[in-house]
Amino acid sequence: MKEILFNIPYIVEKQARYAEQAIISKRIAGDGKFTKMVHGFLEREFNTKKALLTTSCTSALEMASLLLNLKEGDEVILPSYTFVSTANAIVLRGARPVFAEVQPDTLNIDPKDIERKITKKTRAVFPVHYAGVACDMDSIMDIAGNYKLKVVEDAAQGVTAKYKGQFLGTIGDIGCYSFHESKNYSCGEGGAILINSDKDLMERAEIIREKGTNRSKFFRGEVDKYTWTDIGSSYLPADILAAFLLGQLEDRHLINARRKTVFDYYCESLKPLEEKGLLQLPTIPKECQPNFHIFYILVRSEETRNGLIDRLKEKGIQSFFHYVPLHLSPMGKKLGYEKGMLPLTEDLSQRLLRLPIYPDLSMTDLEYIVGSIYQIIQ
Ligand SMILES: *Cc1c(COP(=O)(O)O)cnc(C)c1O
Repeated sequence: MKEILFNIPYIVEKQARYAEQAIISKRIAGDGKFTKMVHGFLEREFNTKKALLTTSCTSALEMASLLLNLKEGDEVILPSYTFVSTANAIVLRGARPVFAEVQPDTLNIDPKDIERKITKKTRAVFPVHYAGVACDMDSIMDIAGNYKLKVVEDAAQGVTAKYKGQFLGTIGDIGCYSFHESKNYSCGEGGAILINSDKDLMERAEIIREKGTNRSKFFRGEVDKYTWTDIGSSYLPADILAAFLLGQLEDRHLINARRKTVFDYYCESLKPLEEKGLLQLPTIPKECQPNFHIFYILVRSEETRNGLIDRLKEKGIQSFFHYVPLHLSPMGKKLGYEKGMLPLTEDLSQRLLRLPIYPDLSMTDLEYIVGSIYQIIQ
């Protein structure tokens, strides 16, 4: 029987070669030659002032919360429909995550609900660009400006995607990327933090990332010894990982083009089922240039969705649902949330199904997946 995996990371020989160079150089700790190359690459290609590699997007988000000095009594607005790390970064500082509703077309945070949830305690908004499709950033930035809130983009899924010509992660005060195996560009475990305009934050980000020391300044010869100057942790990855990642980032156009082919094929071939009202395809607003990170469909009910997952599995095809809304999780309940508070999020999360999408997914496999969906769903 066929076996089609949900994701296979894109790995080419060049990546092993770069990693080998890092090993041979005997400079394998963080902030070596390849890390600097990746920083330069991100700053140049994505047009941001400061990019720093981190060990994950989770650690980039944690750094963001440290940089904003979030503390007990503060509130941060974010979607409930996201990965746990977006919320953990807030909770770890003792601040309160305030979950907002999503928009039904993109499953991205609804600016109107952000505005409704602002209180005197609100300090920041953490929008999440779901599936690599941008949030309504114009509205979010306007609201943030009006209420003096900081914006931290969780662009874990949005690397290389754009909103009105600007790269995701470079629009808010801070952007966070993931280079986890499951993402479009990866080095196994990795991430980056982007500081887009504030010079003080740039300086402090270097310090927090290096255990609260001014070691980065020392290496640049700006101070004659390095010392403990602030709180911090160890958020920098080994140079071997940066080398491996560079090989992928260099191939980003190819990776993107192949993912687009898969995405477009699904959209075109499943269109007749949408027209019959059997499923709903993803919406890409005209301001958004996506990176085709996820291909999902919305079906009519949770039972249909779960049945589809089981039947596809019988045919050797891996497909997945996605987030259990955070407000319905045991942690969410501890924070005082309950079922019924975010009806749209609850409904959509139950009906969403993700299909395999990756650069090496063959046309034969794609035809088999779509053929199987037709057999099951009609
Ligand atoms: C993957 C993901 C993260 C976490 O990324 P890591 O690099 O694994 O820490 C955070 N937020 C979102 C929205 C994600 O999809």
